[in-house]
Amino acid sequence: MTTNAPLELPGADAPTEADIYKCVHCGLCLQACPTYLELGLETESPRGRVALMKAVHGGRFGLTEGVVGHMELCLQCRACETACPSGVPFGRMMEATRAQITATTRRSLRARAVRFLVFRLLFPRLGLLRAGAWLLKLYQRSGVQWLVRELRVLKPIKSLDQLEQQLPRLPKFYRPPPSELVPAQGQATRRVAMLSGCVMPLVYGPVNEATVRVLARNGCDVLTPRAQGCCGSLHAHSGERDGARALARRNIDVFLETNPDAIIVNAAGCGATMKEYVELLEGDPAYRDKARRFSALVRDVTEFLAELPFEPPKKELSARVTYQDSCHLVHAQGIKDAPREVLRSIPGLRFVEMKASDTCCGAAGVYNVVHRDLANGILDQKMANVAAAQPDIIATANPGCMLQLEMGVRRMGLDARVAHVVELLDEAYG
Ligand code: SF4
Ligand code: SF4
Repeated sequence: MTTNAPLELPGADAPTEADIYKCVHCGLCLQACPTYLELGLETESPRGRVALMKAVHGGRFGLTEGVVGHMELCLQCRACETACPSGVPFGRMMEATRAQITATTRRSLRARAVRFLVFRLLFPRLGLLRAGAWLLKLYQRSGVQWLVRELRVLKPIKSLDQLEQQLPRLPKFYRPPPSELVPAQGQATRRVAMLSGCVMPLVYGPVNEATVRVLARNGCDVLTPRAQGCCGSLHAHSGERDGARALARRNIDVFLETNPDAIIVNAAGCGATMKEYVELLEGDPAYRDKARRFSALVRDVTEFLAELPFEPPKKELSARVTYQDSCHLVHAQGIKDAPREVLRSIPGLRFVEMKASDTCCGAAGVYNVVHRDLANGILDQKMANVAAAQPDIIATANPGCMLQLEMGVRRMGLDARVAHVVELLDEAYG
């Protein structure tokens, strides 16, 4: 990677001076930061990263390769935001910094090819993503995957081999009904629109099906618009803010057209980004007001159920269950109680808190692929806390966390199942 090292972070997506100077360097965020806990370096802490932003902003040094490295090792888990008494909006500062890096950095040919594939081809066109998932499913079901693993075909290419080992087994894909509508059971009291998502319908289709059933059971007409697209969270976190804006505009138009009482999301990372469309589009006069209306309607499914309130389930689920807070639910959206309330409502379920449940598991979008060693270190610490809680089921609220925890279960050889909170409620409704 080479950089042209500008003396400051210019442009629309630069972190603002007001945000940067909110940090008083007290260090109260350090113990909340997974990269600081793992590496013990000030430069890998929130305080260190804000100091670097301040130094670059003030022209003391450029956006050098070293600075870029420290910024890219951040998980964007936003635990530092929760810990910070001064209200430093670290998430939006880091997103803006990443946008600056994208604008000023010339990445390697391989990195540019991967980013083109992910950000320009696959995620803006969910049909292509689905086609890719079908190919992957064919690879898994045809026996080719078994052969590749038995013969260790990919062993000479270590990164590809590790990536292949991380592949989840793809279940039945989720597809909304042709009419887009699943009517409420009994009298409809609300009309909601659901984000189907990009990863969720392909990797965890049953979670979307469970979400629809649970909402319909609780008096909602559930609409899943087929014209919706990816929410843009991966783009926003990776410094592709214009790509994220294009996806946001599309979803705003599609969802507001349906005139829902709420827009329901079962992936915490997507929900956080959609609640922040209002910030993403604040410089766009044509969409600023629409983004405000849209973001005000967005609800995580557990948040929505707790607000209703939801019908208590009757069927017993005899299991010891712990909960891993998804970073973008607890830190970005400030939702801690709602998923626990849902879990505790289930008869027979024995809820047990694990230590440091609100510390990142190391998934963080594609972090566990790009920074595998550090992500694995963070995951191993997480799984030690999971193991100490001795759960039968690890519940969480985001597909990325589910994938990472499933990998952790395999790494540790634990006998535990990973599930979305809403799946367990659906099971308890019978
Ligand atoms: S977002 Fe997470 S990894 Fe990044 S500085 Fe804050 S606590 Fe550390
Ligand atoms: S980010 Fe907040 S908690 Fe961390 S050093 Fe700055 S002011 Fe203190």
